[in-house]
Amino acid sequence: MSRSRQPSGSRRLPLSPRTREAAAALVLVRETSLLAPAGYTRFEILKSDQDSERTTSILPDLATCPECLAELLDPADRRFHYPFTNCTQCGPRYSIVLDIPYDRPRTTMRGFELCPDCAREYADPADRRFHAQPNACPRCGPKLSMDLGEVAQALRAGRIVTLKGIGGFQLLVDARTRTPSPACAASSTAKRSPSR
Ligand SMILES: [Zn+2]
Ligand SMILES: [Zn+2]
Repeated sequence: MSRSRQPSGSRRLPLSPRTREAAAALVLVRETSLLAPAGYTRFEILKSDQDSERTTSILPDLATCPECLAELLDPADRRFHYPFTNCTQCGPRYSIVLDIPYDRPRTTMRGFELCPDCAREYADPADRRFHAQPNACPRCGPKLSMDLGEVAQALRAGRIVTLKGIGGFQLLVDARTRTPSPACAASSTAKRSPSR
């Protein structure tokens, strides 16, 4: 918890065990305060206010969560073997942001219009993809342009693969060998290149 300034008329509170549990793994608690009730009757995520102060609290990219992994490996799931599966608990964040506030139209996902199924998840407060900005499925999201088997084969053969993902480019090499492979050495040189 940071010691930053607290809103006037509020007082700082310790987090209750119940709140702590509900906060799950992805919540970074900076401050807790008790405010006077505002009288809201329902929970809503309002449109981002672009005129307010710009902050840079953007999460890093997050490894695929167990629930998404289960969907990825379930032949009955609509995201079976879909490599860009993500939810509010996992997936890209930092690497897809083009501007803030962090909303889909200001990410590299802006060109992918949500299909009706994904749109329903995005709008449902009870769904774990509620307001998941990179939400995608095989029908509406990015697709692989090359067979994964071919990529694996190239890596095993010691070659460098340039991967264009939703967050930019990555250089892939097989780094498991005990002695640095020619591909590893070549990729280090490529990364240091001033023209990169
Ligand atoms: Zn997930
Ligand atoms: Zn979709």
